[in-house]
Amino acid sequence: MSAKIIDGKAIAARIKENAAKDAAEVARAIGRKPCLAVVIVGEDPASRVYVNNKKKACEACGITSLEYALPEQTSQEELLALIDRLDRDDAVDGVLCQLPLPAHISEEKVIEAISPDKDVDGFHPVNVGKMVTGGEGFLPCTPAGLIEMLKYEGIETAGKRCVVIGRSNIVGKPAALLMLRENATVTVCHSRTNGLKEIVREADIVIAAVGRPKFVTADMLKPGAVVLDVGINRLPDRTLCGDVDFAAASETVSAITPVPGGVGPMTVAMLMKNTVEAARRRARASL
Ligand code: NDP
Repeated sequence: MSAKIIDGKAIAARIKENAAKDAAEVARAIGRKPCLAVVIVGEDPASRVYVNNKKKACEACGITSLEYALPEQTSQEELLALIDRLDRDDAVDGVLCQLPLPAHISEEKVIEAISPDKDVDGFHPVNVGKMVTGGEGFLPCTPAGLIEMLKYEGIETAGKRCVVIGRSNIVGKPAALLMLRENATVTVCHSRTNGLKEIVREADIVIAAVGRPKFVTADMLKPGAVVLDVGINRLPDRTLCGDVDFAAASETVSAITPVPGGVGPMTVAMLMKNTVEAARRRARASL
């Protein structure tokens, strides 16, 4: 069997088109474009690429983007003061601080310094709590993008067995919670899981968020499974590769996301969606 390759780029383009339409509508209502402030600390090359992609997407969607690039040695107090200023700025709808941060800065403190209603990354504990209880908050972009992809592809989740590999706060855990919300039966695996191969082999839907190239091999997958590969790994030859052995897996599964061009573009598209939604909600709240 040859798998359907899920085109994340194409799905993301449609989400961004919708975000652009909504951004124009919000702009007419509030007299300015929705605005996203992005803070980056230090010179991490991957972070720089992500921030540039976010800026480009903002431009394409009619969202104002403000970038604050701070040097590596910025103190936590300085960073928190900037976040506080952006948080109070009425002309800013969404604030995000690109992770990871230098070791001397507490990510937790920075995430908690952003108001939940401007937390378009969906990392604030209030938004995490709403995700758990089903309330109206902001969902983290990568996991929300996974659900959006499944919906666009018409892939049934209710009653399906889903195995998430990875339990980070930004991908694995929220992906598992969102799949639970979609009525899947969810198992979360991590580095201390015993019998991982056998567990993954039971899955109708596999979400791989490990950060290890080709960690998931074809023999670990149930024939006909759906595979969402979140991993972005750089190989020694500088090419990108996911957490799944894509070539071999595509011979046995029914649908799979490629890397690049799968989950990655969805993350930025969902950020655009969240930013426009933040502007809309703030406008509604001020009426
Ligand atoms: P983390 O390093 O925070 O988490 C990795 C997870 O994988 C951990 O829970 C870890 O388990 C688990 N793990 C590691 N080794 C094993 C193993 N041998 N067996 C089973 N589980 C294992 O990574 P992230 O969640 O932040 O990211 C994961 C991947 O996704 C990375 O490649 C990252 O670049 C990519 N990514 C892609 C995004 C996109 O937009 N497409 C966005 C964010 C991330 P334990 O908890 O026990 O240590």
